[in-house]
Amino acid sequence: MENTYQTDITVIGAGPAGLFSVFEAGMLGYNCTIIDSLPEIGGQLSALYPEKPIYDIPGHPNILAKDLAINLEKQIQPFKPNILLGEPAKSVIKKDDLFITTCGQNEIISKCLIVAGGGGMFTPRKPPIANITDFEEKSVFYAVKNKQQFTNKTIVIAGGGDSAVDWAVDLAQIAKHIHIIHRRPEFRAAEGTVQKMNTLVKEGKITLHTPCQLGAIHGENGEISKIDIANLKKEITTVDADFLLCFFGIAPTLGPIADWGIDIEKKKINVDPASMKTNVEGILAIGDMAHYAGKIELILTGFAEGAIAARTAQSIIEPDKKFRVKYSTSLGVPS
Ligand SMILES: Cc1cc2nc3c(=O)[nH]c(=O)nc-3n(C[C@H](O)[C@H](O)[C@H](O)COP(=O)(O)OP(=O)(O)OC[C@H]3O[C@@H](n4cnc5c(N)ncnc54)[C@H](O)[C@@H]3O)c2cc1C
Repeated sequence: MENTYQTDITVIGAGPAGLFSVFEAGMLGYNCTIIDSLPEIGGQLSALYPEKPIYDIPGHPNILAKDLAINLEKQIQPFKPNILLGEPAKSVIKKDDLFITTCGQNEIISKCLIVAGGGGMFTPRKPPIANITDFEEKSVFYAVKNKQQFTNKTIVIAGGGDSAVDWAVDLAQIAKHIHIIHRRPEFRAAEGTVQKMNTLVKEGKITLHTPCQLGAIHGENGEISKIDIANLKKEITTVDADFLLCFFGIAPTLGPIADWGIDIEKKKINVDPASMKTNVEGILAIGDMAHYAGKIELILTGFAEGAIAARTAQSIIEPDKKFRVKYSTSLGVPS
């Protein structure tokens, strides 16, 4: 291993639940190493809907998902967490009362582990086009990360669900033109949004290609120039395009977490909601991945679970220390 880190708590998953647990642990005086397989923090907020407004975060009548992720990262900065991105936490071994977590060339040693793996590691479903990888992250995307790059561009959107239709309607405001390719004549999206899409079709801002499939991608150096669209008779229409957005859903995989001896049912970890403890002493779970009767899978639930998990972590790290609620207004945060 290239690096060995000693930390009080290892947090697996840098989604909203994992990030906020780092804050709560920091307020109790513990340092954390937080790991995510994605190259950026934020979990679903950054990977699936960064440009969407969220309306049910307490105290924020309306906040873009990406801004919430940025704020959560800012909020943990005073506690100087060790953030390891771009590699999954692969193995977890318990030696005496310590956990050894491996993540790429890193080894993290801690007394407590908080699993905040959400829906699992994200893998977008990709269309079976041989050269698609040549264009990925340059002109082919599986999520909208920077809306402005589509200004005055021709975009081909593939898919027929909420993401495809939502983005077509949204991007039609700034794009030069949008083509939507869907293999069925009807769309599986909210009725109101489908109506808006149909209005934009009538106005000539969107062209629908249904029932059709993506044929081939043409271009060079990662830049798309044209896209072939095949109908059911395999007849090809070629359109000019600058970008391709594929919304075929994501296939979240539990990944290595399934091998750590934790009680998992239907891809969720069973926990005691009073402590967020799993069946493995020293391993806690929070956020979308944690399950108990009455669980509501929302960001705010994950925040509260992060606070409970931090309290439980104290009982693991310093079993003799009595837990007392301390207000942040009295404590402040390190400068
Ligand atoms: C389109 C959409 C809109 C939504 N709107 C709302 C809303 O308005 N309000 C609301 O409250 N909720 C909303 N949600 C749900 C909300 O996003 C989730 O409840 C929240 O993201 C769960 O947070 P989390 O931290 O538990 O997990 P996630 O955000 O899923 O993050 C988990 C992270 O763990 C990482 N991970 C998993 N396994 C490993 C591993 N082995 N090693 C390293 N990293 C790993 C993943 O890469 C991921 O980044 C929405 C969801 C979607 C898809």
